[in-house]
Amino acid sequence: MQEMNPDLVQVESAHFIGGRYIAGAAAGRDVLDVRRPSDDRVYAGLPVADAELVNRAVQDAWSAFQRSDWARQPPRLRARVLRRWAELVEADAALLAPLEAVGSTRPVRDVLRWDIPYTADLLRFYSELADKHGGEVAATGGASLGMTIAEPYGVIGAIAPWNFPLVMAATKIAPALAAGNAVVLKPSELTPFSALRLAELALAAGMPPGIFNVIQGDGRVAGDALVRHPRIAKVTFTGSTRTGASIMAACAESGTKPVTLELGGKSPQVVFADAPDLDRVARLVADGITGNAGQVCVSGSRLIVARGVAERVIEGVAAAFAALKPGATWDSAATLSPIIRPADARRIDGMVRRTVEAGARVACGGQLLQVVGGGGYYAPTILTGVDADMEAARDEVFGPVLTVQVFDDEAEAMALADHAAYGLAAGLHTADVSRALRCARQLEAGTVWINRYGRSNDFVMATGGYKRSGIGKDLGREAFDANLRHKSVLIDIASAD
Ligand code: NAD
Repeated sequence: MQEMNPDLVQVESAHFIGGRYIAGAAAGRDVLDVRRPSDDRVYAGLPVADAELVNRAVQDAWSAFQRSDWARQPPRLRARVLRRWAELVEADAALLAPLEAVGSTRPVRDVLRWDIPYTADLLRFYSELADKHGGEVAATGGASLGMTIAEPYGVIGAIAPWNFPLVMAATKIAPALAAGNAVVLKPSELTPFSALRLAELALAAGMPPGIFNVIQGDGRVAGDALVRHPRIAKVTFTGSTRTGASIMAACAESGTKPVTLELGGKSPQVVFADAPDLDRVARLVADGITGNAGQVCVSGSRLIVARGVAERVIEGVAAAFAALKPGATWDSAATLSPIIRPADARRIDGMVRRTVEAGARVACGGQLLQVVGGGGYYAPTILTGVDADMEAARDEVFGPVLTVQVFDDEAEAMALADHAAYGLAAGLHTADVSRALRCARQLEAGTVWINRYGRSNDFVMATGGYKRSGIGKDLGREAFDANLRHKSVLIDIASAD
């Protein structure tokens, strides 16, 4: 792909409802400014869906669910549409990649190499599950036949965060659609546009109009109206723990709706003294906290390291940090993403400063970075001498800030790795297989990586949080099952005479 010119990227300031764009006066009165994180320039306005428009989107989805063949057709035909959609997503890279990169923290290079192929493969993965699970026959006596029939819910309300706009949207909608549901998605108001293109491509792939809709707006108005709509049968949400809790309450208040919540984390990377290849470990630790500038739910933000190797690992991480070059998502030389908003860069700085005031030491970083013509950038930071109750070790920073705690034995390592509130992911580095498996069992985390850090590039393994990091699972077969409900049908078998 040629160099990307951010000023030439065009967006639709619209919703996508019933198979078409809704823009202008019909889109709602409130218009939010949408900014480019790389340089903090406003590049588009965004309409806010009010309760009336949300109602229209959900009603359209409900009629499409009832009237189209999406749920009733042989599932392999649904699978065919999803496969075609995946092909269109890949073929659209020249338009989709700049659209994703311009308004997010995702470098265009990475969007082309990773986000778009991942999104397409995710659609393919769930297309393959579409016709593999219809239900079960129950173990009844011979006088009756019992079946559990797997059925879609109807209309699923999906709400996505801003940190990987395409990938997060696809993670929420692909299993829901493959299972035969209709979906109304609300992307983050900070990164709202690539989801619209995804919806347009779904239509082009043959998805009936109204099966996949996108409404725009903030959480307080548009998101809340979506969650509370009586026709929404289930809510699937990825975002912060605080928002997840209020969505759970809204689900309870508006009809005891089931809810999947993928929330925040404060994940440890535990390095034992016998870890193979400490240089490689240091690189993994550094990558685990600087990818997307630390704005990743599973960021390995707490280094828990054996005393004997602590100095060496910290030096290696600091060297990897020093090699990073901050810059715009369209700057091909940049290797450190912007922070989503300058105000968030200042929030990160405040957390670091308060942690230092509480007694922590800055081993490197600890400051805002000035990038010519830039938005908010933050220096990859290492804080040593940290206690579990200090702010940067306790709360999700969502920035490139690594806290360090040192241990003397395995029991202490496990005690430090355990976080009072979060349990999203954890990393273990050790050459001792028994210790790795012992610790993996002990850790209260939804995912444990051993001698690696970060998700793999496929979808076979489910992801989800323990404790306040979430409820339910995304990815894997589990996410497909979570978008189905099961009806029990019992038939008495008439005797022959
Ligand atoms: P956020 O909670 O601020 O917003 C997420 C989404 O919820 C946005 O679309 C927002 O508009 C909407 N929203 C906000 N208030 C709402 C309300 N009251 N009702 C309905 N919708 C509402 O999160 P964010 O800043 O966009 O994303 C960062 C957070 O997401 C971090 O905490 C991160 O750890 C988490 N995250 C988790 C995972 C995971 O898989 N566990 C993945 C990515 C991000």
